[in-house]
Amino acid sequence: MRIDIITLFPEMCETFLNESIIGRARKKGTVEFECHQLRDYAFDKHRRVDDSTYGGGMGMLMKAEPIALCFEDICRQLQKRPHFIYMSPKGKVLTQNRVKELAELENIVILCGHYEGVDQRVIDEYIDEEISIGDYVLTGGELPALVLADSISRMIPEVLTNDLCFEEESHYNGLLEYPQYTKPYEWRGKTVPDVLISGHHANINKWRRERSLEETAKNRPDMLEKAELTDKEKKYISEYLKSIRN
Ligand code: SAM
Repeated sequence: MRIDIITLFPEMCETFLNESIIGRARKKGTVEFECHQLRDYAFDKHRRVDDSTYGGGMGMLMKAEPIALCFEDICRQLQKRPHFIYMSPKGKVLTQNRVKELAELENIVILCGHYEGVDQRVIDEYIDEEISIGDYVLTGGELPALVLADSISRMIPEVLTNDLCFEEESHYNGLLEYPQYTKPYEWRGKTVPDVLISGHHANINKWRRERSLEETAKNRPDMLEKAELTDKEKKYISEYLKSIRN
C-alpha cells in the first residue's frame, strides 16, 4: 500500500513515519509513504497557500488551487485516481471498522488542513471522504493524518511481528481488551492473577473474555449494543454491572 500525505509540515510527518514499527515497515517497503509540501504547488505571484475568508471572519483558509495541483500531480505519478481523504473535525469519526476497510485499498491520499480549514470547492471537487479523529479541534491535520496512517498501516500483513496480535486488541471485535501483565511476577506487593501463570489455556481464555466484557461494560457500555455476545455473556455483564453499582 502507498499513503501520500499533503501537508504544510512534511517534516513533522516524516519524523513520525521514520520511527518504530511504522518506520521499520517503511524501510522494508511493506508500506510506502510520500509526504508532499503543499507550498511547492503554490504558483501565484506571492506563492500563497492561504487567504482570508469570503464573508468575513477571523483566520485564514487554505486555497483550492495548490491542493488541486498537488493531488493531480499524485494522480499522474500513480497513473490512477487514489482515494482522497480530508482530515476534518466535520468528518465521520474514525472507527476500527473503517480502518480495516481502508487497509484494503492500494492507494490513499490524505490532506491535512490548517488555519480555518480548506476552501469548500476543492472538497466538493476532489475529496471522497472526510474523517475526524474525535469530537475536538486541533490546530492542524498532521496529527489526525498520522493517526489514520498508523492505524491503517498496522492492519497491513507483516507490519506487526505477529499479524494476529491486533485481533485480540481493543475495538477489533467490538470489545475492549482485557488487562495484561509482564515480569516481574510481583511488583510493589502486587502479583499477577494466578490463572495467567497456570498454563491452562481454556481458563486463561475464559478469564480474558470475562475481563474484556467487564472493561467494556465499565468504560464503553455503548459498544456492547453492537458486540456479538452469547446469552450467558449478557447475563454475566448484567450481574457484573449490578455488583459494581452496589
Ligand atoms: N474551522 C474548522 C471547523 O470548525 O471545523 C476547524 C479547522 S482546524 C483549526 C484546522 C485543521 O485541523 C482542519 O482543517 C483539519 O485538517 C485538522 N483537524 C482539527 N481537528 C481535527 C479532528 N478532530 N479530526 C481531524 N482533523 C482535524
